Amino acid sequence: MENISFILNKLEDAIIVLDSEQKIVFQNSHSIDLFENNYTGQNITNLIRSPIVLETLENVYKNKKTKIIEYSSEYGQNLSPRSTNFYNVEISYEKNHLQLTNTKDNYVILMKNITPLKNIEKVRSSFIANVSHELKTPLATIMGFLETIRGPAKDDQKSMSKFLGIMDKETIRMKRLIDDLIVVSKIESDEHIHPTKKVNLLKIIDNVAESLKEYAMKKNIKIRFNHQLSEGLFVLGNEDELVQVFTNIIDNSIKYGKINSSIDIKAEEVKEQTDQSEDKKLFPQIILKISVKDESDGIHAKHLSRLTERFYRVDAARSKEIGGTGLGLTIVKHILNKHRGHLDIKSEINQGSTFTVELPIAPIS
Ligand code: ADP
Repeated sequence: MENISFILNKLEDAIIVLDSEQKIVFQNSHSIDLFENNYTGQNITNLIRSPIVLETLENVYKNKKTKIIEYSSEYGQNLSPRSTNFYNVEISYEKNHLQLTNTKDNYVILMKNITPLKNIEKVRSSFIANVSHELKTPLATIMGFLETIRGPAKDDQKSMSKFLGIMDKETIRMKRLIDDLIVVSKIESDEHIHPTKKVNLLKIIDNVAESLKEYAMKKNIKIRFNHQLSEGLFVLGNEDELVQVFTNIIDNSIKYGKINSSIDIKAEEVKEQTDQSEDKKLFPQIILKISVKDESDGIHAKHLSRLTERFYRVDAARSKEIGGTGLGLTIVKHILNKHRGHLDIKSEINQGSTFTVELPIAPIS
């Protein structure tokens, strides 16, 4: 008996065993923690007051058939005094002697906390709602103009070409959104696989800055990249993904930057301040810090911590107008996580923003 309770006490699930009189004959450790007391010897109604659980229990006492219900402490009375958790509650009848209690005719209540699963479900469904919303708007626009072209504007060449232009823009927006979604889902699924190939980060940034120069010139924005580091600095990374990181950041600086302004990119090597293990003190990690400073309107402090959330935008209308998907910084965050890197955002209203990427320099081997 001791062996069995030892094992049951190790379980993450709460277990309560009742006798034929609804008296508690066993509670495992998790159930004692959950209800903050050991109720052995008392009636189950002293422990559980939820009508739905008690009704199900009555039913099992009557029919001797296992029942499983989902219980959330948000409804009705509390099952557990301190939680707003979700549980799968399985109530079963055991006719034979349980070694654990030495009694016949026992009823076992097994409570599995499914709150983490529920949270994932919630995140997933809000993500689906967001994606549907993002796609619905351009699609509705395209459908509206199609109808107009087929109907009232059928013979009006000028309006037709204007509407086709709008439809083209909306189609591109949907395509961009779908492309970004594919990138997010791919990166999220292999975020735990850290890259092992050495890549020259300064060269990558140079190339990205060069490729965006023409776009920046349209707003008369100058991109400057200054550093005093040796050109042969490597990080462990996936080249395409790091190109994407700096493309997204610099592209944002152009998109949100003022006309006739500059973007300053700086690179520096920093020894990671560590007070951790002895090993780290002997071999401090060297970090490559890349900062991209722009001259935009700036971002209010209250938004900064949320900018990397999917579809989070300071000004949704403005972002959509300039072709944003609201996923650029989400992609940046996931790629940097994969590279054991970090993104820091500083901004002040009317002063512009600085996006700083930190990546560990590859060990010399
Ligand atoms: P979007 O496609 O909307 O640009 P991002 O994920 O790249 O999406 O950025 C999220 C939001 O962060 C943007 O909508 C914008 O409000 C804000 N943002 C990002 N970069 C800048 C920047 N350089 N200057 C000002 N605001 C920025």
